[in-house]
Amino acid sequence: MISFNVPPFVGKEKEYIIKAIENKKICGDGEFTKKCNQWFLKKIGSKILLTTSGTDALEMAAILSEIEPGDEVIMPSYTFSSTANAFILRGAKLVFVDIRPDTMNIDESLIESAITDKTKAIVPVHYAGISCEMDRIMDIANRYHLKVIEDAAQGVMSKYKGRYLGTIGDFGCYSFHETKNYSMGEGGGIIIKYPKIYERGEIIREKGTDRSRFLRGQVDKYTWVDMGSSYLPSDINAAHLYAQLEVAEEINNDRLKSWNLYYENLKDVKQIDLPTVPESCEHNAHMFYIKVKDINERTNLIKFLKEKEITTVFHYIPLHSAPAGIKYGRFNGEDKYTTKESERLLRLPMYYGLKEEDILKVCGEIKNFYKI
Ligand SMILES: *Cc1c(COP(=O)(O)O)cnc(C)c1O
Repeated sequence: MISFNVPPFVGKEKEYIIKAIENKKICGDGEFTKKCNQWFLKKIGSKILLTTSGTDALEMAAILSEIEPGDEVIMPSYTFSSTANAFILRGAKLVFVDIRPDTMNIDESLIESAITDKTKAIVPVHYAGISCEMDRIMDIANRYHLKVIEDAAQGVMSKYKGRYLGTIGDFGCYSFHETKNYSMGEGGGIIIKYPKIYERGEIIREKGTDRSRFLRGQVDKYTWVDMGSSYLPSDINAAHLYAQLEVAEEINNDRLKSWNLYYENLKDVKQIDLPTVPESCEHNAHMFYIKVKDINERTNLIKFLKEKEITTVFHYIPLHSAPAGIKYGRFNGEDKYTTKESERLLRLPMYYGLKEEDILKVCGEIKNFYKI
């Protein structure tokens, strides 16, 4: 049986979790949260605030972007519900834009025509850890004074023109869910570009209080100063994540090795399309997908592989055709690729420690399916 996903585990997680418990500080912002913060600062050159999920990082970004009822937010329809929820919770209207078939990312050339006088933000989603065309998106955002919130849930360790995903827009949101490259079970992180807004981020994350400033000795007592919620994760979760960050390069290289092995073994199968990695992007092998002829062929292939004990999955029913998407959003322009390409896409098993022989078996069975 070849699973689709096995949560990453490197060995030190148990020791660190026990240490977190022994520290007698299992709430947020303990020893391991600080260690994670330092790791990110050193690695990506930006501060991070760990959150209870990638979803919550996006919610914080929506609050910090000062999204108000009636504002419009531009995003792809081909994404997870969390990307959209964060903004409709603030009363925004979603404006969906078509994707590029090569990367499944928002088509940057279609963004400008979706802008109205209500538009407040653009949310590029770096699908499969492969970057959106950020220079173009940042240029549009600057010209129209829009916020950019990168949904980099899948993009930890990926780069665009040498810069880490999540550090390019006004906000970057990471996920450390067990299905992501680095995990704390449920968890995430937000990167906030401007220091003043970062300070507000600390407050929103701590129930609207200035507790962080108090703990640093900057104020004598802490008080309720702003709106907020509880977005900080337990130090036990951070301990799990820290064990994996310590060996992040190793995890990344292992995944890339698997990704490249899939690519080499499938590139000559004419019946399928493989992912494209633009020259501007260094990716993190979050996902390996193939694209088959259509939805029927995909159903047959999933069934065929299941009989060979190989689990493959597909995802996102485009948001604009989901009940909530119809209620809260509109599709701007023509849905040329979103629906069609989403129905062709199939994700192959991909996780840290996936065995070479398993990859070869998956590729072999795909070739058997096409009788080659
Ligand atoms: C995983 C994911 C999220 C949500 O992250 P959670 O940590 O599960 O809340 C948001 N957007 C995208 C694109 C994701 O893949």
